[in-house]
Amino acid sequence: MSYSLRLLTAIAAAKAARTLSRICRHGGSTFPGIVAEHIAPGISRQLAQQLTRGRFLVSGTNGKTTTTRVLSAILRHAGWRVVHNRQGANLPSGIAATLVLATDPLGSLNAYAGLFEVDEAYVPAITTIIQPTVALLHNLSRDQLDRYGELDHLLRLWRETFVDHPTSATVVANADDPLVVRALEHIETPIVWYGFSLPESQNSTPIDFTDARYCSCGAVLSYRSILYGHFGQWYCRQCGRERPPLDVSGSQPILRGAAGSRFSAKIADAHFDITIQLPGFYNAANVLGALAAAVAGGVPPNTAVAPLAQISPAYGRGELVESESHRLRLWLVKNPMGFLQALTTALYDQSPRGVLLMAINDRIADGQDVSWLWDVDFEKALTADSFSAIVCSGTRACDIAVRLKYAGMPVDRLIIREQLLTGVETAFALAQGDSILPVFATYTAMRALRELFVRLRWVGPEWEV
Ligand SMILES: [Zn+2]
Repeated sequence: MSYSLRLLTAIAAAKAARTLSRICRHGGSTFPGIVAEHIAPGISRQLAQQLTRGRFLVSGTNGKTTTTRVLSAILRHAGWRVVHNRQGANLPSGIAATLVLATDPLGSLNAYAGLFEVDEAYVPAITTIIQPTVALLHNLSRDQLDRYGELDHLLRLWRETFVDHPTSATVVANADDPLVVRALEHIETPIVWYGFSLPESQNSTPIDFTDARYCSCGAVLSYRSILYGHFGQWYCRQCGRERPPLDVSGSQPILRGAAGSRFSAKIADAHFDITIQLPGFYNAANVLGALAAAVAGGVPPNTAVAPLAQISPAYGRGELVESESHRLRLWLVKNPMGFLQALTTALYDQSPRGVLLMAINDRIADGQDVSWLWDVDFEKALTADSFSAIVCSGTRACDIAVRLKYAGMPVDRLIIREQLLTGVETAFALAQGDSILPVFATYTAMRALRELFVRLRWVGPEWEV
């Protein structure tokens, strides 16, 4: 394949930009992509055409980094050479950086398949760039409202991308999420639906019912069973809409706390026992989605399930950090649903009356409006008996403390330490024995903690992780 001088110049400049940002210890993973697209507009689309074996798009509000990571492990286990935006650079500039940096100086990619985690608001733009062969649409729930506006806007974007325009992609979608199903209503291309077949129970009511309370006909949705949040076997008493029949289904996951879970998956009439190290119901759903996408993309089911037990949690998704004297488990929190799930999972095997650290920042990457903290259902997830102290840290330490106070938590056990280092030191001083300290942190607080741990030599620099 021959390319224009402009394109080759763009590749060389992007690689120089990466070297510069590393020398300057400036961790911007999208800068080379911005440089390349500036010099040769359309370079990403041109390079993506080399990925002839498959181009996987993965999007959703929660779990897309983990789901993409699981899918990557499956494809690599199947022997595929994959390029993957693994540092969570999920905007168009990040996709451009990933592609450009994976080329040789003559513009040839060292892979024949692509795996792209995509920010849910950029699904239309990135679909145009990469022309996915498999599109995994995982879930929708509220994120920081100041970034995206209402959920309705995202529903419209997804609908325009996959329903209003004919797509050549195989769409793999989460049937347990009524919002995803609503976005894809009347789609003409075949869909692979995945979800969990759980025992039916009377009067199932979602804990967090606010994201998908209503059917598109206006009636309140009912549920025969619920996996978590608003995900489950939903139906509408008024108009008869219901969860689509499942093509790939999971059984009730048996949780093992932060250590993971077990469930069985049914794919094309074959059953597979799945054991994963990734905690919580939401990770069982992440794994099932990745499995369904891999099989839709051409990986045999028995090959796809083989590497699952070996996959450890991604950066900040229940990841364990250990020093000689201390252990922490890091939970990245960025929206009500994610925070609730992380909290529930962390408390599952937390010693009674342990210490928790919540580090909340309000910088641009966190979302500057922290009012979403009021939508986290702390009232359901926490009781005064479930902790001995909560250390509130970060630039919005006071906001999270006020939120917890209004959730009914005893004020004398809420300790405010805005500085992250002081927050960590205080939490360790209060924690007893060899317990693991759960840390819930927004994006920039997580990055700052990570830098702190690198300085303490508890973890390696981020690009080696
Ligand atoms: Zn209805």
